[in-house]
Amino acid sequence: MFDLIVKGGTLPDGTVADIGIQGDKIAAIGSLGDAVAGEIIDASGDLVSPPFVDPHFHMDATLSYGLPRINASGTLLEGIGLWGELKQVMTQDEVIERALKYCDWAASMGLLAIRSHVDTCDDRLLGVEALLQVREQVKDYIDLQLVAFPQDGFYRDPTARENTIRALDMGVDVVGGIPHFERTMADGVASVTELCEIAAERGLQVDMHCDETDDPHSRHIETLACETQRLGLQGRVAGSHLTSMHSMDNYYVSKLLPLIAEAEINAIPNPLINIVLQGRHDTYPKRRGLTRVKEMLAMGINVGWGQDCVLDPWYSLGTGDMLDVAFMGLHVAQMTSPAEMRTCFDMVTENNAKTMGLEGYGLQVGANASLVVLDAGDPIEALRLRATRLCVVAKGRIVSRTPRADASLSISGRPATSRRRHG
Ligand SMILES: [Zn+2]
Repeated sequence: MFDLIVKGGTLPDGTVADIGIQGDKIAAIGSLGDAVAGEIIDASGDLVSPPFVDPHFHMDATLSYGLPRINASGTLLEGIGLWGELKQVMTQDEVIERALKYCDWAASMGLLAIRSHVDTCDDRLLGVEALLQVREQVKDYIDLQLVAFPQDGFYRDPTARENTIRALDMGVDVVGGIPHFERTMADGVASVTELCEIAAERGLQVDMHCDETDDPHSRHIETLACETQRLGLQGRVAGSHLTSMHSMDNYYVSKLLPLIAEAEINAIPNPLINIVLQGRHDTYPKRRGLTRVKEMLAMGINVGWGQDCVLDPWYSLGTGDMLDVAFMGLHVAQMTSPAEMRTCFDMVTENNAKTMGLEGYGLQVGANASLVVLDAGDPIEALRLRATRLCVVAKGRIVSRTPRADASLSISGRPATSRRRHG
């Protein structure tokens, strides 16, 4: 007797299996025959995946698009300026309300673990307080990890250092930074060093916005890799964006990638945002600006796609769909072979779970009973269709259902419905 059985679904590796759930854990996987359950979900012919994971988001800014005005130039720097204006006028309740609404969207998309940066350049720490409340409120269905993010520069902003440390004392999970935004390269290097030391002292993970620029000389990832080694933080540090690597000299990159691999740094490119913001100042040829994803994967570096923004000062679109994110990444990085497309699916599930250090993630006995049933036959089809999330289970509870989006056709001599599935 199980509480819930997900019956006959196809797992990402192609095996067909029933999944038996007891409480908030997966209790059995395989052929469960006529086993009884409180509820049975028929997933035959559909893909059953572990939940989607977003390792890079800004939940304090999400759904604020147009407040107090729209980003006219579309650049990163105007976005930062605009966020500075919004921070002065927003209230804690508004931030909480927007974040909870976004978490509803995320749950409906099977996105059940999110790492969100939270701005610590605010003497009131209003966003920090708001997202700490949200983290508590959503914990039964979304694992929300918070990163203390000195958006205006750890040294560049006069009170950022003090406020970032305060945020960590309040219970923010991860140490962030933005070295390329400090006043000088030297300040950037020093900020990486001090922030990594703070993380090592407190036993925390690190996730820096690192080299989010088209400047090939922005090389803070080198310092981040070096400090990770020096402080013994291997496997617990992430470099977000790393876009400068797109424009770097190839010889230098041939030295850099082994350093990143050796330090076991997790890489988080954010393809929707990178393709929108990078290369903005170029004429033609216009750089794509995405970091070297295939090359890092080939070196054995853990790389996962992040979303970064939904309807905020930096990005005017987005839905919380990690398949959209992977779909864009697949195109921009030209990862179009079957094996590469398959990897793109792992990059919004398994790889991101590894970056966040999630415990109990995955479809195996003893893991958290969190999964998604998709209207697709396999992971590549899920990407192609940005497939409907038919059913989302979070820690043993069904939290969302969406009807299959079959079209009714009225075309003579053709079938009555169309599903757009293939094979
Ligand atoms: Zn970001």
